[in-house]
Amino acid sequence: MFDSKVYLVGSGPGSLDLLTLKAYNLIRSADVIVYDRLVSDEILEIVPNKTLKHYVGKQESEHTLPQEEINKLLVFYAKDYKKVVRLKGGDPFVFGRGGEEVLELLKNGIEYEIVPGISSSVASLTYAGIPITHRGVSNNFLVMTGHTCTNSCLDELDWNGLKNVGTLVILMGIRNRKLIAQNLINHGKLKNTPVAFIEKATTKNQKVITSTLEEVLADSICVESPAVFVIGDVVNFHKDWNWFVQSSEPEILLGASVGI
Ligand code: SAH
Repeated sequence: MFDSKVYLVGSGPGSLDLLTLKAYNLIRSADVIVYDRLVSDEILEIVPNKTLKHYVGKQESEHTLPQEEINKLLVFYAKDYKKVVRLKGGDPFVFGRGGEEVLELLKNGIEYEIVPGISSSVASLTYAGIPITHRGVSNNFLVMTGHTCTNSCLDELDWNGLKNVGTLVILMGIRNRKLIAQNLINHGKLKNTPVAFIEKATTKNQKVITSTLEEVLADSICVESPAVFVIGDVVNFHKDWNWFVQSSEPEILLGASVGI
């Protein structure tokens, strides 16, 4: 119907050098970029001045712009611009509501492409020196949202099943961390199970806090968003494998070919 395309693009966990080449080229050549709060400043800096930028940032639980409005906005821009990039933190389909946008584009006959991004659900652990699986320690992992772990929704979760997960990775789980710890312990997870909170992973402000489920329950840990909440024995590797040196500058070798 329109001579345009919308690209749903994952911008990765924050560090510029974890952007895919495809995402990089799209960001450099887009007519319009509709972006989220989790797209880092480092990445926004590579957007050319001439590009129209539209911020639709969401807070952890509130949406500055309701999802329906964002969907409509993409259709709106696709009518006037050839290359519309919808840029999201991490991967567009990992708690990114990318699917809802695809449905709206399909409904309106608008062409689209989806560009995967490195998800914070995996990369945060890697940058904290925590292997998400490790032979003999954890042979599976589960990524879930903690946003719905409120008092009213607790019964909807299979806590017994969660208890047996090797590495539990919780996104949007900072606010409800105490309830999560309490329910895991109530359902048989050991109190001294190691946990980690990885704040602002992969950026120069990355911070890793390690503790135990019991201490989370005691509410003695201070954590800032965005952070990934990790529960499982693999956390023990962090102490010796904390390889990430925040001062290292991302090295961009593409500059010459795109003229920056
Ligand atoms: N699509 C994103 C996740 C969106 S949900 C992805 O694939 O990474 C938002 C949640 O992701 C945050 O509340 C936080 O739990 C996590 N998150 C995103 N970026 C992060 C980062 N750089 N460091 C730590 N957690 C991050």
